[in-house]
Amino acid sequence: MKTLNEIRSTFLSYFEKQGHTVVPSGPLVPRNDPTLMFANSGMVQFKNLFTGVETRDYVRATTAQKCVRAGGKHNDLDNVGYTARHHTFFEMLGNFSFGDYFKAEAIAFAWELLTKDFGIDASRLLVTVYHTDDEAADIWKKVAGLPDDRIIRIPTDDNFWRMGPTGPCGPCTEIFYDHGDHIPGGPPGSPDEDGDRFIEIWNIVFMQNEQFEDGSMKPLEMQSIDTGMGLERIGALLQGQHDNYETDTMRALIEASGHALHVDPFGAGNVHHRVIADHLRSTSFLIADGVMPSNDGRGYVLRRIMRRAMRHAHLLGAKDPLMYRLVPALVQQMGSAYPELGQAQTLITETLHLEENRFKQTLDRGLKLLEDEVADLPEGADLPGDAAFKLYDTYGFPLDLTQDALREQGRGVDTDGFDAAMAEQKAKARAAWAGSGEAADATVWFDVADKHGTTDFLGYELETAEGQV
Ligand code: ATP
Ligand code: MG
Ligand code: MG
Ligand code: MG
Repeated sequence: MKTLNEIRSTFLSYFEKQGHTVVPSGPLVPRNDPTLMFANSGMVQFKNLFTGVETRDYVRATTAQKCVRAGGKHNDLDNVGYTARHHTFFEMLGNFSFGDYFKAEAIAFAWELLTKDFGIDASRLLVTVYHTDDEAADIWKKVAGLPDDRIIRIPTDDNFWRMGPTGPCGPCTEIFYDHGDHIPGGPPGSPDEDGDRFIEIWNIVFMQNEQFEDGSMKPLEMQSIDTGMGLERIGALLQGQHDNYETDTMRALIEASGHALHVDPFGAGNVHHRVIADHLRSTSFLIADGVMPSNDGRGYVLRRIMRRAMRHAHLLGAKDPLMYRLVPALVQQMGSAYPELGQAQTLITETLHLEENRFKQTLDRGLKLLEDEVADLPEGADLPGDAAFKLYDTYGFPLDLTQDALREQGRGVDTDGFDAAMAEQKAKARAAWAGSGEAADATVWFDVADKHGTTDFLGYELETAEGQV
């Protein structure tokens, strides 16, 4: 059985043999792009090569890119623990052509790697294309011999990628694997496509147009290729598993969590260990890339993920900090591919430990309050916004932690009420500042806080360089 580390290498060396330069992952905090919260796809570090603003001494590249999708436009935080295929941190394997090869080669490479080098059963694979992209459909027929009913035409933006409101864009083709009819879920484009039976493994973008401000679109002179395949998804498949969390790396982390708590992590409570394993990766990689827990921006996303993990540890009965004890297992699994993990091991361990200790003091009391509040509610009713706000304000519960806790009981939070309580507190704080003699500065501060919010990060919602859709 190939490990994830071996599968990553196979991918990179396949494309190296096809004339691609192996480029290291870009950092999780993108350089030169303050609007993008975290690197969320392989193309992020190559943005300027696609637009032609920058050229390098290669026109073909291949990478394994660290990605975090836990904030901004692409947010899979709420999927973790619920689907077989989503992480907050994952690795995206990609091959890129900057004005070099295009559709025919990109499809041929993908098909050859999947069915020959990886030996995947071709009869289980199906693809989607953008509904007007006859060219891609024809290539799939020719290269892979796929029948029409396994080339699904999708009319929505799911199969049309844009770098931003303007700039390079184009249709994409997605490759799916059918894990079998014992798993609920329909094929792409069907009403129950969000199930986990048909899992998207690879997304190939054909950058062929440029979108202008006036709404018009023109063919690009330089046609490019951008692809992304989740290492954990292809890994699960190649390891004979359906679920990303059953891959060797994820199992090792889940085992470490069980070991630290002296429980069987694959029995009852498995979902909590999975969340912990996922969040261990995203928090550790973020810290290694220079993000520190804080009350706004990227640091608050980190804090939210950490605290969420701590609640799951608490549910498993952990009385003492847990996450920091799992760092060695992570470094053992991923430290050779990502040396920054080992280099930052002390920082990661201490940051997790400090944050766990800090939150421990209010976690218990907050959960008790939440329990009391819920006890008085009719079945299925939402938690009132002011209760959620009190948990946030007094006990340090990020809103999404409260939502995560309530989701298990089929409840939500009155978020309008939460926002109103937040606005009221801000207004009070603002009034208290008036007359302090520093009104001018304070106004600026409050405006900034309003604009970016402490929980919404609207600033980051305006991502210009989004990943694939
Ligand atoms: P899905 O529809 O399953 O959420 P996506 O279309 O959002 O996937 P892309 O943006 O196309 O994903 O990313 C390219 C590839 O990266 C996907 O085909 C998948 O293999 C992988 N991937 C995307 N999101 C995640 C995630 N949260 N965890 C693990 N792998 C992911
Ligand atoms: Mg996709
Ligand atoms: Mg998709
Ligand atoms: Mg997605």
